[in-house]
Amino acid sequence: MAQTPQDLKVAILGAGMGGLTCALALAKEGFKHIDVYENAHDLGFVGAGIQLAPNMARVLDRLGVWKAIEAEAVNITSTSVRVGASDTELAHVPLDYIHETFGYPHMTGHRSSLANGLYQGCLKHPDQIRFHFATTASDVSFGPKSSFTATPRDTPEQSYRVEVDVLLACDGIKSQTRVTMLELLKIEAGVKDTQQSAYRIMIHKDQVKDDPELLELINGNRVSRWIGEKRHIIAYPVSNNTIYNLSTTQPDTHFAAATNATYTTRGDKSAMLDVFGDFCPMVQRMLNYVPDGEVCEWKLRVHEPLPTWVHETVALVGDACHPTLPHLNQGAAQAIEDGGVIGVVLSKLPDTTPASIHKALKVYEKVRKERAYTLVELAAASGRTLHLGDGAAKEERDRQFAAFRSGKGPVPDKWADADVQKMVYGVDTTQIALDRFDELFASA
Ligand SMILES: Cc1cc2nc3c(=O)[nH]c(=O)nc-3n(C[C@H](O)[C@H](O)[C@H](O)COP(=O)(O)OP(=O)(O)OC[C@H]3O[C@@H](n4cnc5c(N)ncnc54)[C@H](O)[C@@H]3O)c2cc1C
Repeated sequence: MAQTPQDLKVAILGAGMGGLTCALALAKEGFKHIDVYENAHDLGFVGAGIQLAPNMARVLDRLGVWKAIEAEAVNITSTSVRVGASDTELAHVPLDYIHETFGYPHMTGHRSSLANGLYQGCLKHPDQIRFHFATTASDVSFGPKSSFTATPRDTPEQSYRVEVDVLLACDGIKSQTRVTMLELLKIEAGVKDTQQSAYRIMIHKDQVKDDPELLELINGNRVSRWIGEKRHIIAYPVSNNTIYNLSTTQPDTHFAAATNATYTTRGDKSAMLDVFGDFCPMVQRMLNYVPDGEVCEWKLRVHEPLPTWVHETVALVGDACHPTLPHLNQGAAQAIEDGGVIGVVLSKLPDTTPASIHKALKVYEKVRKERAYTLVELAAASGRTLHLGDGAAKEERDRQFAAFRSGKGPVPDKWADADVQKMVYGVDTTQIALDRFDELFASA
């Protein structure tokens, strides 16, 4: 009997948001041999919040996992952009229109809730998806059959070589597959040091039970952004309003510039308080709730855009090919969009030859690349605007905020701007892949 796409052997490197979505999307399409190799012992418990935008929810809903994630999330009905030093409101933007306009509300959640929702979805397909945790993938070779070395850490098992029909490199911002692919293709596309880093903080409701102002924020439905020169803080409730999540951005002074340096580190609380020393008393109070030793700092890095995400039967997915600054809150959403599209293009393969697999992966790239890089640039531009210091550019930005308040013009915080939201939330990339596969495959 002729081989169908569903018979193909697929390896997924990395069980982050991109890898889990690819696995689930392919299982839903009936793929029978999906192996996920993850360096970590488990999904990990990354203590941070994440925005669950409608374009992400749409993919998750199609895959049958949105309801469980939504049940633990918080419905966001407005956002407020404020001056960090004075807490003066620059813009108040209602977001309750989003649900009706884009079919899903704008929500915020816990990263572990999102990852676990996807993982639980995968576990419903035990005959199709196999997870290999604590297993590092290395030495990827690209060809009609691609292969790599899998090295399990916790078992006496030796390293072994894995050969597959399709290899999806969802191995994150430090992707070694990306490095190898670029070397092979003689493409120079470096890692860009954004000179920014982020503290990620979670405050539990019981910590602030005697603080009515913070209790109101935790119990509320608002995303707040406090901005200042070269810095800002974005904050919102998650986990059914039991946790208040703060994510900061500030100049990076603590990480070595080396590409392979660790991207996260335990931060120093007093250094964090110093960075935001001129922000208003309420922000100071929030930062002070963080227990000593629980400050986590992330280096923010991005890559230069790549001319291609695909070589032979290998495709880069998620942060491996389009890492972004977090200012548009779209990194994971974009990795999840990738996964939805991968599910479509591989299931629509007209045959299972390596040439067709390559072409189908190129269709994925065509549907996703321009959009992903547009959003990467938009996030960077939004950061530049939010972080302006005194001068003509800031005066112009604040004039735009004032115009927005009187109903004339866009809000300078791109994330909150209705036209940007239409472009980000109103596009269904899975549907585009479904509608345009034949045409794009023919020209790939
Ligand atoms: C401060 C901050 C705030 C953010 N806020 C948001 C937000 O609000 N909304 C949003 O949508 N996004 C947000 N993001 C972005 C989002 O977290 C990432 O874009 C997203 O997690 C990328 O998913 P991924 O699957 O591509 O990579 P990852 O989630 O990084 O997963 C990669 C996986 O691959 C594994 N791996 C790596 N190498 C190997 C190997 N050799 N072998 C086996 N396994 C390997 C890793 O262990 C990891 O589990 C934020 C990011 C930051 C830094």
